[in-house]
Amino acid sequence: MLSYISFLLHLWDGKKFINAVKILSSYFLSRLTGRYFVWGRPYTFIIEPTALCNLRCPQCPVGLQTLSRPQSNMPIDDYRRIIDEISEYTWVLLLFFRESRSSIRRSST
Ligand code: SF4
Repeated sequence: MLSYISFLLHLWDGKKFINAVKILSSYFLSRLTGRYFVWGRPYTFIIEPTALCNLRCPQCPVGLQTLSRPQSNMPIDDYRRIIDEISEYTWVLLLFFRESRSSIRRSST
């Protein structure tokens, strides 16, 4: 528990704190009034930097290549832009890799 708290304190800064206050305020005001208040920005993001996989699991749209979006790597400039945009108020960033996808790299991307 102590290590978790020290981890959170390491992430703490003014903008993240203000964002957390906005989120909690809008949550409790919504609960109290029964109306929706949405203040603050998301503090958790999941980024899937690649939609490539060299396996062909039968239940998976990535493996079956049936995704409706392009199956490719996220361009590094897009990744940097997103990180720059969300870094001031994000507490948690999850990079979504599964199985063998992280080991694939097309030379053109
Ligand atoms: S390893 Fe994961 S991403 Fe790849 S085909 Fe199987 S379920 Fe899909």
